[in-house]
Amino acid sequence: MPTTEQVRDVLATINDPELHRGIVELGMVKGIDIKGSRVTVDLALTIPGCPLKSFFLEVLPARIKEEFSDISDVQVNLGAMTEEERKALVGGVRAGGAQEELTPFAGPDSPTIVIAIGSGKGGVGKSTTTVNLAAGLVQQGHSVGLIDADMYGYSIPRMLGVTTRPTMVDEHLIIPPEAYGFKLMSIGSAVPDEETPFISRGPMLGKYLHAFLTQVHWQDPEYLLLDLPPGTGDVAMDIGQRFLPGSSMILVTTPQKASTNVAARAGLTAQKLGMHVAGVIENMAYAICDHCGERTYPFGSGGGKELSEKFDVPLLGQIPLDPPMRDFADHGKPAVVELPDSVSAIAFKETVQRIEKLFPPRPKRSVRKTLPLIMTPAKPHTHGPNGHTH
Ligand code: ADP
Repeated sequence: MPTTEQVRDVLATINDPELHRGIVELGMVKGIDIKGSRVTVDLALTIPGCPLKSFFLEVLPARIKEEFSDISDVQVNLGAMTEEERKALVGGVRAGGAQEELTPFAGPDSPTIVIAIGSGKGGVGKSTTTVNLAAGLVQQGHSVGLIDADMYGYSIPRMLGVTTRPTMVDEHLIIPPEAYGFKLMSIGSAVPDEETPFISRGPMLGKYLHAFLTQVHWQDPEYLLLDLPPGTGDVAMDIGQRFLPGSSMILVTTPQKASTNVAARAGLTAQKLGMHVAGVIENMAYAICDHCGERTYPFGSGGGKELSEKFDVPLLGQIPLDPPMRDFADHGKPAVVELPDSVSAIAFKETVQRIEKLFPPRPKRSVRKTLPLIMTPAKPHTHGPNGHTH
C-alpha cells in the first residue's frame, strides 16, 4: 500500500493544464487519505465550477491507479480555494513567470518532440548517446536539433568536431551551426576554446537555455534532443518547471547497481520537477571478446532492465562497450555515421527505431514558420475557456 507521501509524489507530477505548474506546488492538494485499496484526494480548484473539473476527475484516479497496482478505487473530492488562496496562487504564478517563460516547444500543438537525455552521474556515455541518437534520427530522415544543456561539462561540439560558431543575426535571432545533418547549440560555442571554463551562476544557466529554446532558428525540427547535465540541478528544474513542463526524459545508465541507483534518484527528482521519465538506455552494457566473440559484462548486467522496470518504461537500448567508438567519438565522429557496421552503431540504430515508435513524429504546422517564435512577455493569462479567472 502506498504512503501518503508516495501518493503526493505522484500527484506532484500532474500539472494544472492552464497554469502549467504542478497541482501540489500550486497548493491545490488539500488532503490525501488512504484506507485499504481506496485513496481519497481533496483537491481545491482555483474557482468553483472550474471548467477543468473533468480533467482532474479523470487524470488523478488514472495516474494513481497506474502507479499503485494495489489501489483500485480513487475518490477525488473537488472543493474550491478561498479568495485569499487564489490570489496568492495567481500572484505566485506571475512572480514565477510560468506563462512568460514557456517556450514555443511547450505547447500541445508544437510539432517538435523534445526529449531530454539525463543520467545520474557523469561518464556513463550520456553525451555519446545523445549525439548518436541525433545522427541516427537524421539517418532515418527526420529533422533534428540538439541542445547541449550540460552547461558546465559541455562536450558536444568537440564530439562532433564542430568549430563553427552560431551566427547572431540580432539579439533575438541566432543561426545555429550544423553537424551531421542536425542543428546544434552548445554553450561550448560561446567560449573561445574547450579549455576555457564556462563560468556562470545558476540563474544565468536558465537564461542561456531559454535563449537556446526561443531565439535559435530551429525551424520546427521533428525532434529536439537536450543533453542534460548529470544529476538534477538548475537546468532540469528550469526545463521541468519553467520552459518545458511535462517534457520527456530518457535516462542513460551503465549496468552496475551504483550507477542505476543514482540514475533512479535523478529520474525521481526530475519527475518531481515536472518532467516525465519515458525510457532507459543502458550503455556499456556488455563487451564482445575480440578472440571468441563471446559477450562479457565488465560492468555487471541487469541495471538497465531494473531501472526501466522501476519506472515502468521501456528499455530502449543496450549499447555495448566498443573501444573503437570511443576513439571516433573523442575525435568528433559519431559511430552511427562513421562506424556504421560497428556493434555500437547497430545498437544505437535499433535504439533510434524504438524511439521513433515511442515518439512518432507529430504533424507539421500548417503554416511553416520561417522565423523562430520570439517570446514576448505574455499578458497575465488567467482565463479559463468560460472567461473565468482560473
Ligand atoms: P557523459 O556524457 O555521461 O559524461 P560521455 O558521453 O562523455 O559521458 O562518455 C564518457 C567517455 O566514455 C567518452 O570518452 C566516450 O567516448 C566513452 N564512451 C561512451 N560510451 C562508450 C561505449 N559504449 N564504448 C566505448 N566508449 C564509450
